[in-house]
Amino acid sequence: MIFKVVLFVLVCYVLYRLFMNDRKKSADQEVKEQKKRMDTGEMVQDPICGTYVDKENAISVRNGDQVTYFCSYECRQKYLDHLEEQRKLD
Ligand SMILES: [Zn+2]
Repeated sequence: MIFKVVLFVLVCYVLYRLFMNDRKKSADQEVKEQKKRMDTGEMVQDPICGTYVDKENAISVRNGDQVTYFCSYECRQKYLDHLEEQRKLD
């Protein structure tokens, strides 16, 4: 009887370890993937909140020759407000 309990706990433990390893591996891979995309220029940094966003999914604003990317409309609005304030100061 006690043997069955030990076996059950052991199986649970092995499954738990496998599951945790899997999660860790995919998280590592995600970080690597993100870094690779940053290196190749596919990932760009939102200057407002500092988040890295995919160029294709990012919200972009063209200001002269410069294109700035944002993670959300909220960040874009903050940036535009900031530009407006600077224009007023000039
Ligand atoms: Zn943002």
